Amino acid sequence: MLSVILPAYNEEKMVPKAAETIGRLLTEAQIAYEIVFVNDGSKDGTWEAIEQTAAKDPHIVGIKFSRNFGKESAMLAGLANASGDCCVVMDCDLQHPPETVIEMYRLWEQGYEVVEGVKRSRGKESAVHRASAGMFYKIISRAVRIDMSRASDFKLLDRRAVDALLAMPERNIFFRALSSWIGFRSVSVEFDVQERTEGESKWSAWSLIQYAIKNIVAFSTVPMQCVTVAGVLVFLMAIVLGIQSLVKYFSGHAVEGFTTVILLILIIGSIIMISLGIIGYYIAKIYEEVKGRPRYLIAKRIGGQESAEKSDGKKERPE
Ligand code: UDP
Ligand code: MG
Repeated sequence: MLSVILPAYNEEKMVPKAAETIGRLLTEAQIAYEIVFVNDGSKDGTWEAIEQTAAKDPHIVGIKFSRNFGKESAMLAGLANASGDCCVVMDCDLQHPPETVIEMYRLWEQGYEVVEGVKRSRGKESAVHRASAGMFYKIISRAVRIDMSRASDFKLLDRRAVDALLAMPERNIFFRALSSWIGFRSVSVEFDVQERTEGESKWSAWSLIQYAIKNIVAFSTVPMQCVTVAGVLVFLMAIVLGIQSLVKYFSGHAVEGFTTVILLILIIGSIIMISLGIIGYYIAKIYEEVKGRPRYLIAKRIGGQESAEKSDGKKERPE
């Protein structure tokens, strides 16, 4: 069976549409399926929409978070609650074309364990967005050592890959990169990002910046190494200035040089502050991991009776 996982945050209009479109396509292709909607603490009628859709269609499983935990947590909750032999994660707004799911499924049947959806085009975006996304992916690609510039969250994972992902203890999950990191037999499929038909994108410029910093830190320690590099550079500068000051002192004109002193204090002061900030950010992340709070809390689950009975309660609330 194929499980399609759809994280949904304020998508009341898209829920019935997505269920209908995906259901029809998979039925036509004669693929056994279930659709897992994860309501990520929506403020509109998304949960009611999921309940109504589930009442009409036995293929639907609904999971309700106790509050908004973010898309990464919603995807993981979907994976943890899916009972399929393979799982596809896609956006609920149908920006990931549902036809591609069938293509992915056929590749899985041929023995691939991870099928990555790769963006052929990035859809409509502003120039600033494109440039900053480009920079972000360059850094991430370096950290993961895999080209991520066209990566997306649209993927098919085999049961083995899903279990490997769920077994990871870390809380700061960057799904897009982690699914490449786990390895397995993988292949990619190109798709065109569709336009959103209902609702609006949940990403503001500020949330994208936070997302970028969070994920760079989750995957790389390069920012901390930058601190060391800055330290070495300042030290070299110190040697040059030190020699110059000593020469001046012994040749008897050591009084001038206030500008140099002011500049040095400003430069070194700011480098120290920035460095402390970077290290502080990593410590904050360590603190979060050490607390070991659950990634999400499930308030309610509907549909998928068979799998619900099988679950031993652990599924509902992963440690
Ligand atoms: N989403 C979510 N939790 C959030 C934000 C978004 O589950 O806190 C879901 C959203 O419902 C959608 C997907 O993540 O299914 C992608 O969101 P969106 O379309 O806003 O992002 P974009 O396509 O603009 O990158
Ligand atoms: Mg979208």
